[in-house]
Amino acid sequence: MFRKKLRRGAKLQMVWEMQEAALDFVIAALEKIRETSDRLPRASRLWVERLRFAAPNKADLLAPIRERVRICTKCPHLASSRTQTVFGVGNPDAEVMFIGEAPGADEDKQGEPFVGRAGQLLTRIIETMGFARGEVYIANILKCRPDTPLAPFGNRTPTPLEMQTCRPYLVEQIEIIQPKVLVALGAVAVEGLLGSRGTMRELRGRWHSYSGTPLMITYHPAYLLRNQTPSEKRKVWEDMLQVLERLERPITEKQRNYFL
Ligand code: URA
Repeated sequence: MFRKKLRRGAKLQMVWEMQEAALDFVIAALEKIRETSDRLPRASRLWVERLRFAAPNKADLLAPIRERVRICTKCPHLASSRTQTVFGVGNPDAEVMFIGEAPGADEDKQGEPFVGRAGQLLTRIIETMGFARGEVYIANILKCRPDTPLAPFGNRTPTPLEMQTCRPYLVEQIEIIQPKVLVALGAVAVEGLLGSRGTMRELRGRWHSYSGTPLMITYHPAYLLRNQTPSEKRKVWEDMLQVLERLERPITEKQRNYFL
């Protein structure tokens, strides 16, 4: 897995190096024209130099992955049951990235993660942390809603095979976004991301690592909707306070004492 990540990172590096070499070639050719011809080239030095230093735009890097996801048929049963894929939403330069398990019915309809009831709670958590929803990045392990062929409504947990199949898309998203902190929401998201199962009791509330990126594990908002006890809600909030501390964000007294 790690070797695969390295290979992908090396590929990106190679593309940038090739772009750099191509730009060097263009610049040299333009200089030659300037030296040898009475007609000046149309491209100004300034603009060509700007191209050289242009940082790779993360939104542009995400776009082809979004397109691959949009037409993905690796899980034929999900490709045929989905309304649309749900790639992810938010700021490609986000400091923090939230990872859920899979789209539900609302997300499948709207094409955006976490827009149903659990999503509204997640948005409240994000806003109480002091972020706008659009400032963070939100994605799921699975980009398709798990089908429920025998039931007209309700959600199903993704299978390990579905998660394993879809995971590379998330890995690419993380590699491009490079958030300072990842937050995995619930045990299924953890299993999808790390490939290991554990109980939330032993996993949440402390720092883990995903490929060198600090990973906080907390309860899924849907769990909080089912277990509305103040103590469970407070646990999630304490996990988010740890995230804010890690990001070195200022924390107000009101935030410290907050209960979801
Ligand atoms: N639950 C998830 O894990 N993801 C969503 O997008 C919505 C609900």
